[in-house]
Amino acid sequence: MPELIVGIDLGTTNSLVAVCDEGGPRVIPDDRGRPLLPSVVRYSAGGVTAGYAAREGTGEGATVSSVKRLMGRSPADVRADLAFLPYGIVEGPNQTARIKLSPSQTVSPQEVSAVILRSLRDRASAALGAEVRKAVITVPAYFDDAQRQATRDAARLAGLDAVRIVAEPTAAALAYGLGVGDESRRGRAETVAVFDLGGGTLDVSILRRTPPGAPGGTEFFQVLSTAGDTHLGGDDVDHALAALLLRESGGAAATGAAVAAAESAKCRLSEFDAAEVRLPIASGGEYRRTVTRGELEGLMEPWIARAMACCERAVRDAGPRLRRTAGGAGGVGGLDAVILVGGSTRIPLVRRRVQEYFGLVPYTAIHPDLAVALGAAVQAGVLSGAVKGALLLDVIPLSLGVGTVGGAVAKLILRNSTVPARATEMFSTSVDGQTSIKLSVYQGEREMAADCRRLGEFHLRGLPPMPAGIPQLEVEFLVDASGVLQVSAHERRSGRRASLQVVPNHGLTRDEVSRMEAESLAHAREDLTRHRVVDLVVNAKLDLKWIGERLERFRDKLDAAYAAELDGLVASLRGFVLRGDADWASVDSDAFHRAKEALDRASVRLQEVGITESLKQP
Ligand code: AMP
Repeated sequence: MPELIVGIDLGTTNSLVAVCDEGGPRVIPDDRGRPLLPSVVRYSAGGVTAGYAAREGTGEGATVSSVKRLMGRSPADVRADLAFLPYGIVEGPNQTARIKLSPSQTVSPQEVSAVILRSLRDRASAALGAEVRKAVITVPAYFDDAQRQATRDAARLAGLDAVRIVAEPTAAALAYGLGVGDESRRGRAETVAVFDLGGGTLDVSILRRTPPGAPGGTEFFQVLSTAGDTHLGGDDVDHALAALLLRESGGAAATGAAVAAAESAKCRLSEFDAAEVRLPIASGGEYRRTVTRGELEGLMEPWIARAMACCERAVRDAGPRLRRTAGGAGGVGGLDAVILVGGSTRIPLVRRRVQEYFGLVPYTAIHPDLAVALGAAVQAGVLSGAVKGALLLDVIPLSLGVGTVGGAVAKLILRNSTVPARATEMFSTSVDGQTSIKLSVYQGEREMAADCRRLGEFHLRGLPPMPAGIPQLEVEFLVDASGVLQVSAHERRSGRRASLQVVPNHGLTRDEVSRMEAESLAHAREDLTRHRVVDLVVNAKLDLKWIGERLERFRDKLDAAYAAELDGLVASLRGFVLRGDADWASVDSDAFHRAKEALDRASVRLQEVGITESLKQP
């Protein structure tokens, strides 16, 4: 019996889980028959929830969405997104971005993604009647090493072994290639472009499918090239339209409301020629406006131009098999099909431009929301043995190299190399008797290190002292089939393997992941209570300070019974704070919460007295 491996599309907006068996790949719906799981997680006193329940939750607590944008990133990387994220970001260890849930509680993007993955895992385990422990997980083709590592770490926290990380467009092409699409195409080789435009990212990939040479042979899927933009998606259109609405309404509407209204109008304009926008404004009343499809398309022009430039890069990098048709008539020679994936490919202008550029009517037989998950399930089936005779050859999206003394990057593995990939480079020392050397690893296409992304650094230690230039350090880069980098090194003259330490710059260290994994399993419930008590202590202290000050100042203005009531409530809350501060486990967090609420409610009158008195001041 083949091993159980599921395919997971861990999306910015929605996530899905699928499985592949004799009947082919299929998405596993939730117990209400819904295929999607909104990629939203909610933290509240009642617990941690994911999906629809999290998205619809209101009241106290924090809701985290679009966490995919933060995976493996630093606060500086995501600065442009900050204005539109409904939560704050703080910097954690190794320049990682962490999400601020409350003044005293933060959480890593990996932990949030783990909640989503765990929910999908539970769904699949329940539906398949067996515990799911392994998954193929998709990421945008353009995800760099830190982002892939972060995805893998999230899986581990959710109790899943990410046996393979697959690029989303590759997965989409797999779904299309393996019988899910049109049977008549199966016998011949073909070259396919996948245009994947979601909420936040664009990926364009060119793949070649080679059928088995003989019956029972192996079918190859080879990624010829991939190009993309990690900051180009439907969200940009929402932001551009929201900015217009805010400008016109005189800035009187809330940004969040304007973005939501813009997105809704954008989606309606995929179907209709005009859409009405209504926005509540601060002074009361409403700002109203009709947006036409033509107007939206005007706003989208610079954005479309960037998307088309990505297509151009992907076609150019795919090699001589593809040719741009001369004369500007449009069309790419040598291409058999174009597949559209991602919510933003529902926009008519996007379809039109893609069709014009490639000279082919895009193929949309597979539901664009499901294609990536179905393809991940196909890859899972290939790995588990449920699907026979297919092999996927993916590529690395960005070149990998080592920083040199002059500030440039020596590239060891070039972009669009097929994975797994291996490269070695020799290094030596520049000082006599040097026993350690520090090397930085970079990913990116630019020449200078400052323009590339620094993935981390490693120290080769314990070298035997030798004159400068004599040691021969062989550094090996190995990119596994998931596109994840491993570095190793040894000194050839002495034959010694130098001790090696890779410190990821934008991710969690192995130890941190292990610790979090152990903790999340053992302490899920305690963690929540602890966070709650810690939060309550912080907030109650602020209340006590504020109320205590006013109580003393205005005591003679209050009637005795009310003052006594406040004194009692203050004493009670102070008791909780003292105990909570000393030992969080010793207090009943619900009772603590009630005590705080009771004082908050009772102090309203004190606040009014304070205001009245201050107005009397000359
Ligand atoms: P994805 O990441 O693939 O789920 O795509 C999400 C993006 O698709 C968001 O920016 C949505 O606003 C956008 N989207 C979804 N439906 C439509 C639609 N009917 N028209 C235009 N954009 C859409």
